Amino acid sequence: VKAVNDVSINIKEGEILALAGESGCGKSTLAKAILKLKEIKSGSIVFDGIDLGCQTKVQHKEFRQKAQMIFQNPYSSLNPKMKIIDILKEPLKVNTKLSNSDINSKILKLTKEIGINENCLNLYPHEFSGGQRQRIAIARALVLEPKFIIADEPVSALDVSIQAQIINLLKNLKNNHNLTILFISHDLSVIKYLSDRVAIMYLGEIVELGTTEEIFTNPKHPYTKILLESAPSFSKKEKNLTLKGDLPSPTNLPSGCKFHTRCPYAMEKCKISSPQKTLLSQTHYTNCYLYENL
Ligand code: SF4
Repeated sequence: VKAVNDVSINIKEGEILALAGESGCGKSTLAKAILKLKEIKSGSIVFDGIDLGCQTKVQHKEFRQKAQMIFQNPYSSLNPKMKIIDILKEPLKVNTKLSNSDINSKILKLTKEIGINENCLNLYPHEFSGGQRQRIAIARALVLEPKFIIADEPVSALDVSIQAQIINLLKNLKNNHNLTILFISHDLSVIKYLSDRVAIMYLGEIVELGTTEEIFTNPKHPYTKILLESAPSFSKKEKNLTLKGDLPSPTNLPSGCKFHTRCPYAMEKCKISSPQKTLLSQTHYTNCYLYENL
């Protein structure tokens, strides 16, 4: 099974790149591959100029500190047997030579910034609400002062009323800590609000990539257009395009353009061979035969 295939993306320092697509399209697999939580069979991942496949032990340890992940479900990503203070202390004890008092003052400063009361640090994860747990998970990701964060659907398990708080928190933290973020989500309204650029993924491939403005005001790939039209809205505007059928199984991938089984514009050649990348602007490309002669 090829969950992710022929993906080439560049995440610029200080930006938020959003990765969007249906559940099961390979977004989380790509995230785990970038962080070396899943092995890649070919290709390379370069972080700060260093190929992760050729790292020394020291470089690998540094990478583990510089790149962190915020997981989707704050109920399962925190150890239920550890107090919050210990969850936050552990990475510092393992990775730094800070004294106990330095560790404590660092944690107090961070929890204040994250919005967790210091009186709660001796509690266990189950004593917090979902939103507070996600704040703690964010604090744990930030405690080693990483440069790069992968946030994998960080608000989709939370109540709608809490989602906005966590999104705003991420935006502030990104500015305050000069973070680079790969933000994975299927919620296009959140992506539009938060990200600088957007990559659209379908069945393990990036089918369109551009600035947030380009993707939302001038989408080109039929899949991107359908995703945008499918997003719930209060507008009474008629929806012309809808996504038909389920995402094909990665064990039985369609030939040619992988979207041809669901594309309203599919042509004969779409079933036979895959379209190449067409540049639409310096910052915008798509893989679709409809634009190959531009
Ligand atoms: Fe649709 Fe063909 Fe474009 Fe694929 S290449 S998205 S099937 S028109």
